[in-house]
Amino acid sequence: MAKPCKNSLAFPDDAFAARVLRWYDLHGRHDLPWQVSCAYRRWVSEIMLQQTTVAAVIPYFMRFMERFPTIDALSEAPVADVMAHWAGLGYYARARNLHAAARVVVRTLQGVWPQTVEGLSALPGIGRSTAGAIAVFAFAARAPILDANVRRILRRYHDEQGTGAAHTRRLWALAADHLPAQRVADYTQAIMDLGALVCRKTPDCPRCPLASDCAFTGAEPAVARTARRERSVAMLLAQRADGCVFLVRRPTRGVWGGLWSLPECPLADDAAFCLRQHGLEARACVLLAPFTHTLTHCTLHIQPIHAQGVVTTSPQPGGDDMMWYPLDQPAPGVPAPVGRLLTRLREIP
Ligand code: SF4
Repeated sequence: MAKPCKNSLAFPDDAFAARVLRWYDLHGRHDLPWQVSCAYRRWVSEIMLQQTTVAAVIPYFMRFMERFPTIDALSEAPVADVMAHWAGLGYYARARNLHAAARVVVRTLQGVWPQTVEGLSALPGIGRSTAGAIAVFAFAARAPILDANVRRILRRYHDEQGTGAAHTRRLWALAADHLPAQRVADYTQAIMDLGALVCRKTPDCPRCPLASDCAFTGAEPAVARTARRERSVAMLLAQRADGCVFLVRRPTRGVWGGLWSLPECPLADDAAFCLRQHGLEARACVLLAPFTHTLTHCTLHIQPIHAQGVVTTSPQPGGDDMMWYPLDQPAPGVPAPVGRLLTRLREIP
């Protein structure tokens, strides 16, 4: 049973929005590189911003736009090139969906963007909230959004506790009720900014324009936390005499899906045995300094092993999913810790 909202929405329609907009005019972000009315830039930025901060996204967005300045350029590019420009940003299914959606718009829809939330939601990787944001920013639609920031504000402001589909429906209804009659795009950016800058995990209520009637008491609903897993793995830097390093493509599903990576084996296994499974043999194997890499739900303890003077001893299984990468060439799309290891290898005299 839904708890009644402690804040009635009966007071003037724009009271909430007006305060958020006034705060935004003074403190919001007005010069982000995607704040233009271009569906393509808005779409790419909204996908990159899913589960990723503005600060982390900006350099990736700039590089991505330089390489793929238009949706036509993106749709014509090989998916491996798109993955390479996404490497390090995480959640790689986003990049594959972005590429797939570009092809739908260019090839199936003849370059005509859907302009409604329903039409945009039909494209790969675009959920209702992202579709709302693109429709608002690029096509001046009037639609609510409910990303993690907005969800947190509404949950706290209205003391809207609970979980599940009914809870989410109530939050969507509140998000729609708060939409102002005018300046919808500014309001949408404003409430995103308020969540990112003020109503954060630890809220800064004294700076918040909603503090006077916010229902937040400091108590958050208990969120079931999954314990962070720990995993240890050996990564093999198998290098030929000509300097090339052996890379394998990861399966499209799962962590680092579709990126190029190093062969991995459990720490207990012997490196020579792992190399043989790829049809390789090394003159010598040297342990490099181990390090830790943090993923969303897992801490990865990595033991790099430098296999030197590697030669091919039997036909290599893998076909297109393996390559010998020349270290002096730009790296293909690789996960951050693999990029770090390749850099380390380049520094070995
Ligand atoms: S007053 Fe505090 S809890 Fe309420 S919306 Fe503002 S920052 Fe969030």
